[in-house]
Amino acid sequence: MERDIPELKPKVVLAIGAHPDDLEFGASGSVAAWVQAGAEVHYLVCTDGSKGSDDISLSSADLIKLRRDEQRDAAKVLGVKSVTFLDHEDGLTKANADLKRDIVRVIRDKRPDTVVAQDPLMVYNADFGIINHNDHREVGLAAMDDVYPLARDHLSFPELIAEGLLPHKVKDLLFMVSFDERSNFYVDISETYETKLKALAAHASQVDMSQVTVWLDAMTKRLGERGGFERAESFIRLNMFI
Ligand SMILES: [Zn+2]
Repeated sequence: MERDIPELKPKVVLAIGAHPDDLEFGASGSVAAWVQAGAEVHYLVCTDGSKGSDDISLSSADLIKLRRDEQRDAAKVLGVKSVTFLDHEDGLTKANADLKRDIVRVIRDKRPDTVVAQDPLMVYNADFGIINHNDHREVGLAAMDDVYPLARDHLSFPELIAEGLLPHKVKDLLFMVSFDERSNFYVDISETYETKLKALAAHASQVDMSQVTVWLDAMTKRLGERGGFERAESFIRLNMFI
């Protein structure tokens, strides 16, 4: 079936990630570009980020606070309007009813036309030697199920209606897929690449910028070649038919 898919011009974006820093790696160049074009962008970080450190002197409580501060700083660099944190456990997050309800609550509150999420089908990539983190898959799956049908149907999570959160239809879902040949959508980040690097640098507990800049430079250029830009981020775009 041939469909006319409109150009993506998001007005309200909700970017949903598992951990502080996921959205910076996958979509921050695009986020900065959308903000510059006048969009309102909100972040939702679903886990508490309590496990991502090899510093044994650091407690989980300290790490949670540190990573939240880093995420807020990165969001400020990008012009993101709000950051919401959920407390699902880092490493053991499940796409269960609790997580789905928590995400639907934010979708119905922020009412995005465009949702950015992690790709639930990315389990591993042998070419790049990557096992995708459990939380990335589970949060991506929950976000997808929430975009359709759970945020849309008033009989799903009726307790949210009681909170004043009415059903909402999302128009576009973008899965972040930097390592995947299935990408069908590229965002030009030639002008916002430096901002992406600045936002990533805010995650000092997670990111060694001297290493990251090397592979990110190559990757954004490789994706740019495919998308017809100097540099790009890549996505699988689902423009909703219903
Ligand atoms: Zn992550």
